[in-house]
Amino acid sequence: MKALIMLITVPKNLVVAGPGLLKGVSKKGNTATYHWQTKYSINNYNIVFNAGNYTVAKGSYKSVAGNTVPVQFYVLKYHADKAPHFIDMVIKAAHAKEKYFGEYPWAKEKLGMVETPHLGMEHQSMVAYGNKFRYTKVGGEDFDWLMFHEFGHEWWGNKVTARDWADYWIHEGIDTYSDALPYLDLEGRQAYINHFKQTAFGIQNKQPLVLGKDIDEESAYNNDIYTKGGFFMHTLQYVMGDTLFFPTIKGFVTDANYTYDHQNVTDDVEQYFSKAYGKSLKPLFDMYLRTTNKLEVSVKARPRDKYLIMLLNIDMDLPVDVTTDTGTKRMTLTKKGITIESKTIPVIDADGWYFKKVILE
Ligand SMILES: [Zn+2]
Repeated sequence: MKALIMLITVPKNLVVAGPGLLKGVSKKGNTATYHWQTKYSINNYNIVFNAGNYTVAKGSYKSVAGNTVPVQFYVLKYHADKAPHFIDMVIKAAHAKEKYFGEYPWAKEKLGMVETPHLGMEHQSMVAYGNKFRYTKVGGEDFDWLMFHEFGHEWWGNKVTARDWADYWIHEGIDTYSDALPYLDLEGRQAYINHFKQTAFGIQNKQPLVLGKDIDEESAYNNDIYTKGGFFMHTLQYVMGDTLFFPTIKGFVTDANYTYDHQNVTDDVEQYFSKAYGKSLKPLFDMYLRTTNKLEVSVKARPRDKYLIMLLNIDMDLPVDVTTDTGTKRMTLTKKGITIESKTIPVIDADGWYFKKVILE
């Protein structure tokens, strides 16, 4: 939808939280009418209001583009004391997201959050929050995974939007990937690698992520669009290398051709990343997203401490970490295979960047 006006009338003791800007509240007798309006395009499923016994906690921050963005938290009155710290965390989250994905997408209106009885949802510029202020620690700082995840959808879901339920890994997978970036920034590369090693155990791999075209929500929405979708981006980061991957993902989410009024399918993402990579990444996209195959790597022992290492089931060359008795090297593996020398059995991809199966013979 191109823009939206929302008029909600409630008993006058309630407060209504909605998308965009609050243009006014008109009171009549025992009722109050809240007039919310957004000039940004908005997904149908983001058109939501919440009414409750709210008070509005406020803050602001300077965006990466230099704009002052108002921050509003519609918090239930009896949780008002939690709001200042929560707003600090939201502002930290905004800086963390903007570092990788550019300015908050609705900077001209507001950054909003509203406390809800359900766990959470990415309602545009008024994200639903129901995690009851239960924080964990990342890098010694309070971290609310639910807030961070739903807020991340402002970029992946609300600004970049899939055209078809079949491609919802673009929302959930890329957003789940971005949930891991605080580990990289606050705890370092090894913590970040370990995080994905753990999440890989959660991949069920019962059906492909992209099932075809014109898929309905029930068929498309399974846990792997989060876990495997996120893990796929992690693999892509390794394949492209940080110096190419991070500018490319930021390029996509800040490109007018893929954002706001435009909607995307998996091929749009693949073609954009392939162009940046300089050769086709389609075989990798297809394997992770359209099949349940794992990357198969064969390691065959040969005489005199030699090993033949080859990719078995993908039609492209891929960089892979190979650890031998002399250390770990990033090597280009192919279907034809390469021969290396090692006094120990080579370990393939020790840091677990790939969803893979290693066959030792
Ligand atoms: Zn989500």
